[in-house]
Amino acid sequence: MMSIKEAMEQGTGQVSIRGWVHRERKSNQFAFIIVRDSTNIIQCIVEKDKVPQRLWEDAIQRATIEASVIVHGTIRPEKRAPSEYEIDITDLEIIGESHEFPITKDQSIEFLADMRHLWLRSRKMTAILKIRSTVFGAIHDYFRENGFYEYHSPLFQSVQCEGGSTLFKVDYFGQKDVFLAQTWQLYAEPAIFALEKIYTIAPSFRAEKSKTSRHLTEYWHAEMEAAWATFDDIQNYGEGLLKCIVGRVLEKNQDELRILKRDIKKLESAVKKSFVRMTYDEVLNILKDKCKIEIEWGKDLRTIEEDELSKMFDTPIIVTNYPKAVKAFYMKEDSKNPTVVHGCDFIAPECYGEIIGGSERESDITQIEKRLREQGEDPNQYLFYLDTRKYGSVPHGGFGLGVERVIAWVCGLDNIKDAIPFPRTMLRKTP
Ligand code: ATP
Ligand code: MN
Repeated sequence: MMSIKEAMEQGTGQVSIRGWVHRERKSNQFAFIIVRDSTNIIQCIVEKDKVPQRLWEDAIQRATIEASVIVHGTIRPEKRAPSEYEIDITDLEIIGESHEFPITKDQSIEFLADMRHLWLRSRKMTAILKIRSTVFGAIHDYFRENGFYEYHSPLFQSVQCEGGSTLFKVDYFGQKDVFLAQTWQLYAEPAIFALEKIYTIAPSFRAEKSKTSRHLTEYWHAEMEAAWATFDDIQNYGEGLLKCIVGRVLEKNQDELRILKRDIKKLESAVKKSFVRMTYDEVLNILKDKCKIEIEWGKDLRTIEEDELSKMFDTPIIVTNYPKAVKAFYMKEDSKNPTVVHGCDFIAPECYGEIIGGSERESDITQIEKRLREQGEDPNQYLFYLDTRKYGSVPHGGFGLGVERVIAWVCGLDNIKDAIPFPRTMLRKTP
């Protein structure tokens, strides 16, 4: 047995492959069966007069869409076939029958979402899932090659970090104040005193009530935290990571990018140069000058504004020094301008929005306590966290990257939902 890819590499002679019927077309004399496995597709032909009666009947009656089959035959190059090779079948085994496969042509997005468990077999989803695997591998490799340890935080958490409005409360044996993780951060910072440089890829949960093409309620979050890191270091790690991810996909997934009809040139130019870096104030100026968009100082950037900004450049844009009021309590004040903080958002090209959010962390305990109170939080709830500033506090920082946001951008998807096998949103929790 061999994969379709291996059979095509062999190119001529006897082959045996196995997979699923991707498409079929039958006439009085011929059956054309396109077989799919995880590596490729290949057209297989049965000619009525040249095979035993039983084989012809199986080909006609039982080799239906998504039936699993083993094909034995002779392979040869054939320019007109979908993958430019063809197999003349000498024997056909039907392993698992499949009758009336529900997904036929021209189905609505909602129907395909209901049939997600079967739609995963489509060429589009298969291509995305392969790229997704490359992206996860690249994240692990990047951090490990840069001296980071993989570290894990709890997903049941008792403090909130990114704002109460998107917290998922859980019934934890009837006790109050238990939430699903929105981020690993508060539980990661204590570990930098042991490991210094750490990262994770883990699910984060956010009760997003908005129906955007960028928000899931469960997404995979690649996060890093590093002791002694400066604000510049954080941005450099983010840029390095994105370049590593995109570079790896360009190297390994040309076929998949082609199946997805991705404009590969745009992806290449996004990572060839240094990323654009500008402060929030500079963003306000450039949006005013070039797009006639006026943003009141102190307001967060909205999706439409981030999109306008992304249209001006072909690389990601790192926006720094946001007004304190729009960012989380743990971000460090700029020493030269206490109205802004050392937070940075990475805005993806081509209107894919924010893909990384990061910051230098406030290392001073009195500052943190003050910011918590200003944001209506009780510092007594954060005692374990405040200990990180009490015993050997160090300058440090980190970021979080939304893996599905990056996959959506790299694959050129219309919606983040296709970047994950079983998307979860306010309106979708099945299958
Ligand atoms: P946004 O403003 O786009 O909702 P955020 O400011 O809430 O993002 P952070 O809290 O900084 O995002 O989270 C870090 C990263 O996680 C973001 O840069 C983004 O890539 C990703 N992310 C955040 N929320 C979601 C979500 N609901 N679904 C998918 N990815 C998300
Ligand atoms: Mn959000």
